[in-house]
Amino acid sequence: PSSAYRFGKQVSVAVAKAREQVAALIGADPKEVFFSSCGTESDNTALWTALQTTGKKHIVTTSVEHSAIIKQGAYLETQGCRVTWLGVDGKGRLDLKQLEDAIHDDTAIVSVMTANNETGVIFPIKEIAEISRRKGVLFHTDAVQTPGKIVLDVRKTGVDFLSLSGHKLHAPKGVGILYVKRRTKHLPFVIGGGQERGKRGGTENVASIVGLGQAAQLSLEHLKEEQGRVRGLRDKLEKGIVSSIANVTINGDTESRLPNTTNISFNGVESEALLLKLDQYNICVSAGSACTTGALEPSHVLTAMGLSADAAHSAIRFSLSRYNSDRDIEKTLEVLPTIVNQLRASAPVKSEVAA
Ligand code: PLP
Repeated sequence: PSSAYRFGKQVSVAVAKAREQVAALIGADPKEVFFSSCGTESDNTALWTALQTTGKKHIVTTSVEHSAIIKQGAYLETQGCRVTWLGVDGKGRLDLKQLEDAIHDDTAIVSVMTANNETGVIFPIKEIAEISRRKGVLFHTDAVQTPGKIVLDVRKTGVDFLSLSGHKLHAPKGVGILYVKRRTKHLPFVIGGGQERGKRGGTENVASIVGLGQAAQLSLEHLKEEQGRVRGLRDKLEKGIVSSIANVTINGDTESRLPNTTNISFNGVESEALLLKLDQYNICVSAGSACTTGALEPSHVLTAMGLSADAAHSAIRFSLSRYNSDRDIEKTLEVLPTIVNQLRASAPVKSEVAA
């Protein structure tokens, strides 16, 4: 797309269209949208550029962020930065007074996800943006889990940076965006050619960018369906599980939650074993966060919410989309009670599920 010859021009027109489609999804100006390789790169870039452009060395974030923020924050701590890791209550909610008190003169940026990837809990982004603005610090939100599920409007919420990733809205994997509010200072994290108006070096992943643009448009078109029909499916699944299986706990604030997600602890069941059993029926779920599957540590999100290691190890995340049907829910409710009973019978209950 950077080449002046005809093929380059055709491609740059396609990238420009994708930029407009993504901008429409989040209520931004296309000039505020920068393509990246993934949500992780966008998250890393937001923290890094805020430190560079402000010359400050303090970050305020939460202990329930995705590892793209947690591990970047932990790395920055080894490089002389200070990070305040805000805790959450038993339902996964933040204390905004605590957040406000954590902002100091040396704070470069506040970074709080729009919704949690394991529980679906939605954070009050508009209020946090307002606090950050009042305190004169930048605000980034990782909105990777949210497109097509809730309305995103960067103007109304007033964020300075926002990250998205292609695969969460059915676009190809390996593409993302960083929204940067106009007139916000912004340096390239990936340094190289002058692509993305000098803000992100490296030849653009054009096919995936075009796919992301189309997915963004479809996401907007299907938003109502996801908020209504998909929420109905999720609620039916949840109610069915609670009424047919004893000793289950729904994790997270059910009052403020993405419409497609439910995180449930099945007391006395090892979540990895449950995941594998369900997989045999073509029912694909996550144990903890999909991105950390394979790690033996209990979910850092559920642990931060105060769940015991056993309760966290027995948690499964179901996340639905517009590609799920009523039949999927019925099938899951048909097989799940038997699987849970079998697993409980083979592995005696070790402990209670934490509140
Ligand atoms: N942030 C959240 C909330 C996520 O769920 C994910 C991953 O799925 C990411 C960031 C990382 O995105 P990516 O896998 O595109 O790097």
